[in-house]
Amino acid sequence: MAIPRRSSRKVRIAHVAVGGDAPIVVQSMTNTDTADAEATAQQVHALAKAGSELVRITVNTAEAAAQVARIRERLDAMGCDVPLVGDFHFNGHKLLSQFPDCAQALAKYRINPGNVGRGAKRDEQFATMIELACKYEKPVRIGVNWGSLDQDLLARMMDENARRAEPLPVEQVMREALITSALDSAKRAEELGLPGDRIVLSCKVSAVQDLIAVYRELARRCDYPLHLGLTEAGMGSKGIVASTAALAVLLQEGIGDTIRVSLTPEPGGDRTREVVVAQEILQTMGLRSFAPLVISCPGCGRTTSTFFQELAAKIQAFLRAQMPVWRAQYPGVENMHVAVMGCVVNGPGESKHADIGISLPGAGEVPVAPVYVNGQKTVTLKGERIAEEFQVIVEEYVRTTYGPGGPGRTASETEKVIAIQAAH
Ligand code: SF4
Repeated sequence: MAIPRRSSRKVRIAHVAVGGDAPIVVQSMTNTDTADAEATAQQVHALAKAGSELVRITVNTAEAAAQVARIRERLDAMGCDVPLVGDFHFNGHKLLSQFPDCAQALAKYRINPGNVGRGAKRDEQFATMIELACKYEKPVRIGVNWGSLDQDLLARMMDENARRAEPLPVEQVMREALITSALDSAKRAEELGLPGDRIVLSCKVSAVQDLIAVYRELARRCDYPLHLGLTEAGMGSKGIVASTAALAVLLQEGIGDTIRVSLTPEPGGDRTREVVVAQEILQTMGLRSFAPLVISCPGCGRTTSTFFQELAAKIQAFLRAQMPVWRAQYPGVENMHVAVMGCVVNGPGESKHADIGISLPGAGEVPVAPVYVNGQKTVTLKGERIAEEFQVIVEEYVRTTYGPGGPGRTASETEKVIAIQAAH
């Protein structure tokens, strides 16, 4: 069932469209020192390879700004055309003015209205950044953040609220201040000459219910595309669950044109995790497809060895690793469903519903693993090499179903797969 999307303007960020009828875009951010061009280019490349369609880099110092064009060149040399977004705070007006090659190399500027200066300087510095965006024909994201909300605006709104006969709760005033900051800044940007179809908005907070309330209101009051993300979501499962809970509610209501999952990596952890989680949120909600889905049961007392978990993990890793090549070679493969089930209770049933599935033997069952292709049992695997043989069947299924001549396989191709199995 398709979820109706909120109507929004389409903004072009180099070759990537955000909003309008464009698919919901996955983005991420590096955590390297941008002044280290090589390390940053490598991480951007890894994020793009994992599926990030936009990558943001911090541009916080002159040393960082001086390297942005080098990073772009390095990525182009690697054949990586992912658009780079520059994240500016406090000194963005200076860096964009002093480093024209940086201003040119970036595909979008992120401006935080709470961090561009105070009082008269705030307006002047904000205007400089918008004028530069106009000059270089770049879109901007006006990205308001709970932790750096414009304090002058908040103080004014708090005073106004205190003068009401019945003051609103403080949290409600803060939420309204976030929305007002984003909408007023967007209005000001348009007054300064930035076209409305070059503006993306975000209002990030770290509490799930606040995020939902803020974005519902923002979505109601404008038609700019919205960048969704729970800021400071946290580490590990907490960060994933909090982001999913917040984003899923909004996405289900058709709100959100691009998403970022802000996970704190484990020490030495892989930054690309945030890209995989963002993709999985969209794919499990049926909003986009990125890689074949592995359906596996949780296991129970009937799965007494680790073989079942190992096979599920192996197949998942194998499918994801193939995607950079498969995406181009086998269009549609990202919609494939693979079932890896632990025993005969639900194994055959779930495997039959998947495109391809295997039902492993549970404790006390005959040590054989029937394989189902398009709902039909095609072969029964046994012995020490079940994992390897199942992988061969999956590869063959992909080639025959999504390769030239696909979709769907002929009876002779099915027989060929069975013959391969027999040969093992
Ligand atoms: S399919 Fe079998 S092993 Fe998996 S959870 Fe159900 S009963 Fe347990």
